[in-house]
Amino acid sequence: MSEALTPAEQSRILAKAALFAPPAPVLEDGRRELVGLSREALIAALAAIGEPAFRAKQLWHWIYHQGVVDFARMSSIARPLQQKLAEYFVIGRPAVATRQKSHDATEKFLFRFRDGQEAETVYIPDRVEDRGAVCLSSQIGCTLSCRFCHTGTQTLVRNLGPAEIVGQFMAARDAYGEWPSPKGDTPRLLSTIVLMGMGEPLYNYENVATAMRIAMDGEGIGLSRRRITLSTSGVVPMMDRAGRELGCNLAVSLHAVRDDLRDELVPLNRKYPIAELIAACRRYPTASNARRITFEYVMLRGINDSEAEAHELVRLIAGIPAKVNLIPFNPWPGSQYAPSSGAALDRFARIVMDAGFASPVRVPRGRDILAACGQLRTASRRAPANGAI
Ligand code: SAH
Ligand code: SF4
Repeated sequence: MSEALTPAEQSRILAKAALFAPPAPVLEDGRRELVGLSREALIAALAAIGEPAFRAKQLWHWIYHQGVVDFARMSSIARPLQQKLAEYFVIGRPAVATRQKSHDATEKFLFRFRDGQEAETVYIPDRVEDRGAVCLSSQIGCTLSCRFCHTGTQTLVRNLGPAEIVGQFMAARDAYGEWPSPKGDTPRLLSTIVLMGMGEPLYNYENVATAMRIAMDGEGIGLSRRRITLSTSGVVPMMDRAGRELGCNLAVSLHAVRDDLRDELVPLNRKYPIAELIAACRRYPTASNARRITFEYVMLRGINDSEAEAHELVRLIAGIPAKVNLIPFNPWPGSQYAPSSGAALDRFARIVMDAGFASPVRVPRGRDILAACGQLRTASRRAPANGAI
């Protein structure tokens, strides 16, 4: 069982991570980005300019609770220090390159980062309550070519850094005016994070973990770990670590119940086959009836949507506190699959439900602007080693 990484695996992953590392968060004029630093790193950055640790607490509040990007607006900090901070540091945001609104109110942001690379973020308003989820990207592109996923056709350009990951959420808060007003009242439209955008979050674990710790910090953005869901295609050893260290909700992209088919749809299955994946789900620490693991299952016509497969699915996940999210396949230009028929979806959902698992069919959102699950992709490409594009 792959409970721990071997040293060889660890060094291979580290070498790969360095190759795809985000650029250093430093501007051309030498000022350093503060967003994305852990609390400890923020304390160290301030110590380096001779400022005591309590300043980090003040700054943290302004940056992550109030959403302030200008040191001059930090009223609890004296003017000379505001100026000093502005000499050394910057509080940045990814730039909004484009913003598109679907007829169903879903919005897709294309964010541009300091090096010009781009990733997409989707805001999905709740249909009933006055709040919604922000779907964050963790990588530009993806290494894992799943056959039905548009992002998978974009080779990995690079990992996103903590500032870029939590920055997508913060920029969305800017866009919706979601920071607390001076009176203290905060509209709470953006109350949930789903790591289901571009990329495989567990192949960029350190950066994702730093960003999520910032999002969960009670003195800043303050989202509960129950409001954060990390979706993985099944990087088994990292699931253990994420469970232990972050304890957020887990969603697993299952999509097939037999290894031969899953090998084809989700090629990572050749490395971490279904039995290992399910075992990792069984030991995922936060799973309980109140906090169930979500199994995502994209319904592909004639491929994985038979009644026999529904029965096999419930047998596989028996005993796991889980729900099954049936996702109608969202087509994209050049995709090879067709969505399952409504009847096949209903039959499948009924079998799963009768076995005692909630099996909501995920209503596609933002399809008209290619913002639905698996439709994200940007024009960013990896610069060749010689720097020419
Ligand atoms: N890499 C992670 C998270 C991003 S993908 C993962 O694979 O889990 C988010 C979800 O969208 C996954 O469940 C993925 O399998 C699903 N998905 C990908 N392409 C899709 C498509 N064309 N239609 C519907 N869902 C899709
Ligand atoms: Fe990557 Fe997830 Fe798409 Fe697979 S489904 S290619 S892991 S983003």
